[in-house]
Amino acid sequence: MAADPPTHRFAFRQYRLPLRTVVRTAHEVWTHRSGVIVRLSDASGRVGFGEAAPIPAFGTGTVEETLASCAALGDSVGEAQLGRLPQAQNCLRAAIRAAQEDIALAVECAGGHDADSYRAVAALLPAGRPAIEQVAVKADAGFRVFKWKVGITDIADEIALLDDLCAVLPGGAKLRLDANGAWDRRQAERWLERCAERPIEFVEQPCFSPISAGEAAVKRTTDVLLGLAHDYPTPIALDESLVDDGDVARWLELGWPGWFVVKPSLLGDAAGVRRRLEAARANVVFSSALETAIGAKAALRHAFAWRGEPKALGFGVWPLFADARFDGPVAAPFLRATDAGRIDSEVIWNALG
Ligand code: MG
Repeated sequence: MAADPPTHRFAFRQYRLPLRTVVRTAHEVWTHRSGVIVRLSDASGRVGFGEAAPIPAFGTGTVEETLASCAALGDSVGEAQLGRLPQAQNCLRAAIRAAQEDIALAVECAGGHDADSYRAVAALLPAGRPAIEQVAVKADAGFRVFKWKVGITDIADEIALLDDLCAVLPGGAKLRLDANGAWDRRQAERWLERCAERPIEFVEQPCFSPISAGEAAVKRTTDVLLGLAHDYPTPIALDESLVDDGDVARWLELGWPGWFVVKPSLLGDAAGVRRRLEAARANVVFSSALETAIGAKAALRHAFAWRGEPKALGFGVWPLFADARFDGPVAAPFLRATDAGRIDSEVIWNALG
């Protein structure tokens, strides 16, 4: 058994980076990404990096709260300080765990996984009609799994577009729809009726109530999601519903029959959540939280460590930033473990100095 991770020297830098193009979801329009990069070092000069990239619309807390917690940590961090972080600071916990793992891997001189392994990547399509043109471009590049954001414009227009989009998909391709919780039950039913017998891999988060909406609303939405998952043949995936480490356990206990979209950057103990999902033989998609390459490197370590059936990664997001130094490997239909391992976190840290 390994000993507890030792105490490390701690430093952090805030970032606020313009995106290359605006990213639209049902929650918000992203023009910038904000977060915090943390740097740990040990007495031997080994360094590790991690990224706290909260998504307040999911209920993760804010960057300002993360900064306050970083300031409160002072200049060293170990298990005791991690244990005292507020519950809402899962993103910061994820960042510190990732940096600890960097250092542990440097000690072992190992990549942590089979360097030759690779995973398919889902191509992210723009919202609305521009998706149709992009399918051909991405299909030519070799992508066979596509993701389309819905719940943004008029529901009848979007449903009509679905058929146009399905018509241009290459043979054998699959389409993921992500509503980001935009629909009520009846709207979700309209969509799910239309999705049956079409090549829809899953519908992601058709409905959502954040914790801030109150316990009764969360419970109602949970019941709606369970009902939809049982009533329609197209699988439903949870994303926004998995904002806290305990949420995965809760949905497993409820017998959730659908998929899980896991954003390791948002989880305080992504390794623990991963093992729980492996034990449940769940369908899991590892996904970007629109973080920089530092957070993505740690998230992809979890994706490559996954022992269940590999599904296309939700990492078809790059190029994402106006300043390409912050991007991970540019979206290709496949991502190798070595591509993720080659990400040089120090370059990003220095760019923020
Ligand atoms: Mg999503």
